[in-house]
Amino acid sequence: MKTYKIGLLRGDGIGPEIVDSAVRVLEAVGKKYSVGFTFTPYLIGGAAIDQCGQPLPQETVDGCLNSDSVLLGAVGGPKWDNLAGHLRPEKALLGIRAAMGLFTNLRPAKLYPALKAECPLREDIVENGFDIMIVRELTGGIYFGERGYREGKYGEEAYDTESYSRMEIERIVRVAFETAKKRRKKLTSIDKANVLETSRLWRKIVHEIAGEYPEVEVSDMLVDNAAMQLVRNPSQFDVIVTSNMFGDILSDEASQITGSIGMLPSASLSGGTRGLYEPIHGSAPDIAGQNKANPIATILSAAMMLLYAFDEREAAEAITAAVDKVLDQGLRTADLARGKEALSTTEMTDAIIENL
Ligand code: NAD
Repeated sequence: MKTYKIGLLRGDGIGPEIVDSAVRVLEAVGKKYSVGFTFTPYLIGGAAIDQCGQPLPQETVDGCLNSDSVLLGAVGGPKWDNLAGHLRPEKALLGIRAAMGLFTNLRPAKLYPALKAECPLREDIVENGFDIMIVRELTGGIYFGERGYREGKYGEEAYDTESYSRMEIERIVRVAFETAKKRRKKLTSIDKANVLETSRLWRKIVHEIAGEYPEVEVSDMLVDNAAMQLVRNPSQFDVIVTSNMFGDILSDEASQITGSIGMLPSASLSGGTRGLYEPIHGSAPDIAGQNKANPIATILSAAMMLLYAFDEREAAEAITAAVDKVLDQGLRTADLARGKEALSTTEMTDAIIENL
């Protein structure tokens, strides 16, 4: 039996509750499909500040680098909000992503038929549902470019610069084509090539690499149009690939149109199989410790780990199918129950395990 070493970063707020739910689901699916796991917890965020005085202890970095894959809950909360910048829990997220060399962010935005009522878009627009995978470049572009202040013609000035190398573009574009190949084989590359040089290089490289993937239909879209198309006709998209800043903005827009923050997983990947899997939501301090959080985003993050890190397709699909089933059965945690009877975090986890 194959056994995978998983590092657990439970973090703060609801982090420990939802990570523990995902661990229970992994253990159950592992038994069914003969896949073994070892789980090793490491401190991160506020919990790490409280115990060791810093948000990302070296032991955590070393532990994650020695794991086959890493599952993260969420970090942060009001208790640590007034600390100096380098001591903020959020600093740990940037630190661990950099240490693991995670240059790809995969964010699915899927509208579940059972949750159509949560979608803020008009009914006729989402009649056919949508299932989008956003592939965002995570370690380059304007967030990492040269920046600063200077005296300009009109006094104080600030600047940020965007630059992308061929290597950075090629590797993320290849991830996107590979992802599209495994899905509905449609790739939309989003840029601002009518204005930006980085976008023109990006577009050129997308079309060079397209030659290696004749089975994938590729098109370009300007980012302003993409922002409109996501709310006008989201079902036209399968895989989207884009730069760091455009991806940051568009992936939040895409998550909002699903209407359910507690449902959305994500993966951040480096070359090979190393990755960090986490829900897109935060630590929800308002409901922490109450057994109320929706564990599905974290459970689906674990399913993404099975697929992308370990290629355990059957086990991954069993989890996503079990989530579909519990939603079809009308089971809901409080965030989606609209005041009706709601399941607790542990009850929802039990229901998913029963449906595996
Ligand atoms: P949040 O995502 O934690 O919460 C926003 C709202 O959504 C809250 O009402 C919360 O109760 C609800 N919510 C979130 N996840 C839920 C779930 N699984 N089930 C049910 N309800 C859920 O965002 P916020 O309130 O802006 O931030 C709270 C803290 O989380 C802050 O300290 C912030 O810095 C941190 N944060 C961390 C991450 C991360 O670790 N990746 C991401 C975003 C925010």
